[in-house]
Amino acid sequence: MTHPTEAPTNPLPVTDRPGSRAARLRAPLARQVVEAVAVDNGVCVRPLPMRRTSLDTGETQIIPVPCGATLASKCPSCAERARRLRIAQCKAGWHLDDEPLPDPDPPSDDAKALAVLRADLETARDEVLTAGDVAQVREIDELIDQVDAELTDLGVRGQITPTDRDRPRRTRSTKRRQDAPDLPRLPVDRRTVGRTFTAPDGTAWRPSMFLTLTCDSYGRVHSDGTPVDPGSYDYRRAARDAIHFPKLLDRFWQNLRRSAGWDVQYFAALEPQRRLAPHLHAAIRGTVPRVTLRLVAAATYHQVWWPTTGLPVYDGQRLPVWDDATGGYHDPDTGDALPSWDAAVDAIGEDDEPAHVVRFGPQLRADGVTANSANTGRMIGYLTKYLTKSLDACHAVDTDRQRAHVDRLAAALRYEPCSPTCANWLRYGIQPRHPRRELAPGRCTGKAHRRETLGFGGRRVLVSRHWSGKTLTDHRHDRVDFIRQQLEALGATGTGPAAPASDPTRLAWTLLRPGDPAAPRREHLILHAIAQRHAWRAQLGLATGPGTGEKAGGSSATGPPLADAA
Ligand SMILES: [Zn+2]
Ligand SMILES: [Zn+2]
Repeated sequence: MTHPTEAPTNPLPVTDRPGSRAARLRAPLARQVVEAVAVDNGVCVRPLPMRRTSLDTGETQIIPVPCGATLASKCPSCAERARRLRIAQCKAGWHLDDEPLPDPDPPSDDAKALAVLRADLETARDEVLTAGDVAQVREIDELIDQVDAELTDLGVRGQITPTDRDRPRRTRSTKRRQDAPDLPRLPVDRRTVGRTFTAPDGTAWRPSMFLTLTCDSYGRVHSDGTPVDPGSYDYRRAARDAIHFPKLLDRFWQNLRRSAGWDVQYFAALEPQRRLAPHLHAAIRGTVPRVTLRLVAAATYHQVWWPTTGLPVYDGQRLPVWDDATGGYHDPDTGDALPSWDAAVDAIGEDDEPAHVVRFGPQLRADGVTANSANTGRMIGYLTKYLTKSLDACHAVDTDRQRAHVDRLAAALRYEPCSPTCANWLRYGIQPRHPRRELAPGRCTGKAHRRETLGFGGRRVLVSRHWSGKTLTDHRHDRVDFIRQQLEALGATGTGPAAPASDPTRLAWTLLRPGDPAAPRREHLILHAIAQRHAWRAQLGLATGPGTGEKAGGSSATGPPLADAA
């Protein structure tokens, strides 16, 4: 990020008239200064104002709640905090010796508070939508996604908004494709930890693995990731593979468990390669023979049973027209209704080929890793390296050739249907599922079409259910508890975020809507949070002895995980 305060390093004397436009531009914006200080202190730069009401005393307080963004472009502080939490989670599960405990019951108070927040956000979204504020809608949608992800982490199943519930209308033949090798099928043991090996000298060791899976090739590429022949590079297949990659990954883990014969656990992160195709890095607990991994990867595929999309039927200005009477779209010239989604899917015959088949590419890497080796830390760093960046920002795009490559992929993604409800089906003369007015091909709001996702609209971190035996929220609480214990051991009675919370059932939280007269300016909220952080850091400075306080509160990876607690 740019530091506005760096301007005075210019060796030329500043001769601008005070108050001139140049002088005003040189002065850092108050907001930028506040945000820069917030980032230095690990404090959220986009806090949400929440009103906390004590049900006993009726006392209310406006509390800045961190936005919880996972991308540094949105909020560097929250993104770094989220990344460190993932590091802790990855570490906790990789070399477990014992079976992790069964899934804990979801902490129901947290889930309830989130559900209330979710409802508030939905109302706020309606309000800004009526006001026509598109930027706000998008911001709220991002928050809704985060709350949903958080709810999933708490073990709450199912989505609250039914956006694309995918229920196949007809069951397709489960006969294996002829072009995919057969897989051994073993009964799956309930065991989730790997085997222990004992060396001749008696030391026991339990190796684990680091696995990398890639997408197929779409054409030869240069070392900068751009195609040798852009004309023949298969952008359409690249786009489709990215959109359906999550399904392929699910199949892979299923197949791997059946072939290995035990309940293989993983912590995986998705990243783009230089050529912008997604690939997966995974920490696997225990070892699976490389030959098995290769066989499973080669035999895994996912078939997409959607209507086939060849050449566009409607393009440019000639688009299907919405009809209020029938609640659907019809042809602009003939007035005939377009086939419904269900009819189009029913028309796929028994002998038809699927619209698309996703497979892995031939490059597969699998390395053994032993517990506590220097390697483990390096591998975890590798796994979590890009988590705070959007997929399109992981590799620098410096040359025109690279920019053109991104543009061509983005163009392919723009018109590729992302789900049965996608507006792009209209382009191919089919009504999307649950059609509504004002749908336009190329303007679907699905995540997969956004440039920053490179087609991959799913979650970036994929963790199996029995990885560490804890939810992400449990890991977060572990870190807060750690600070609290330190403070208590030294007799500090905290009033900061580590203070023993008042009875959470006696507190009610509500989100302040944009425009609420009680809502403080964002700068004020941030300053409030910074002051809180300072007070708390001072306490911890006392607790850990002189000289260490500053370090503990900073972004040092070795100090107590302060940034994760608030
Ligand atoms: Zn934040
Ligand atoms: Zn779409």
